Amino acid sequence: MTSLDSTTQAKLARVRERIERAADAAGRRGDGITLLAVSKTFGADRVREAIDAGQARFGENYVQEARTKMAEIAALGLPQPVEWHFIGPIQSNKTREIAQGFDWVQSLDRLKDAQRLDRQRPQAMPRLNVLLQVNVSAETSKRGVAPQDVAALAAQVAALPRLCLRGLMAIPEPHPDPAHRRAQFARMRQLLQALREDLAGLPAAQIDTLSVGMSDDLEDAIAEGSTMVRIGTAIFGARQ
Ligand SMILES: *Cc1c(COP(=O)(O)O)cnc(C)c1O
Repeated sequence: MTSLDSTTQAKLARVRERIERAADAAGRRGDGITLLAVSKTFGADRVREAIDAGQARFGENYVQEARTKMAEIAALGLPQPVEWHFIGPIQSNKTREIAQGFDWVQSLDRLKDAQRLDRQRPQAMPRLNVLLQVNVSAETSKRGVAPQDVAALAAQVAALPRLCLRGLMAIPEPHPDPAHRRAQFARMRQLLQALREDLAGLPAAQIDTLSVGMSDDLEDAIAEGSTMVRIGTAIFGARQ
């Protein structure tokens, strides 16, 4: 790569192209897929580069790191608002900071955390958008709600007034076989469809988001119905 190709702007453009091509191949519209730039471990300077290249949504995994970065970005006084998504493991003693600082939480997998976020979301802010993280590979990882428990947790979360349940998120285990990867994304699509039908009677529910697909597998995820891809490495480079 020449240095010009390796700028944040050029890498973002290539990711957007990949999304467009994958959407096209699936007979979908590219604008039905939201790009979340995952900026964990990268500084506010790199976030700023991405904002300057038109990126408006960022994902962060660590509360402390995110708070510093958000303050630095806010201090720039940029004209366009930035949307922040919390995508890391939720620690109970950090829920207040999450409820106060983020627009979305994608990694919700316990009712206890949902109740805390609901209580701690400031009244002056809009409802906190949340996704349930599903342990779709159901293997070694302990994070995420089991597929068979999604409906019960969703019904409880949907009843919390300061949260807005928007859908599901997953981080499937990496797998060399593309058919296996596709099957996991397809399972997520089915779970989302079932959730939409389950909650159809609830006026507060707005199930419209399937957050799957990362730098290495966004094409497979989009082929199976992803509406939000979370991309780190392909935009910012390898993490230390
Ligand atoms: C780090 C991370 C990503 C981005 O992964 P890349 O492979 O770098 O694109 C996406 N989602 C979650 C939850 C992450 O922790």
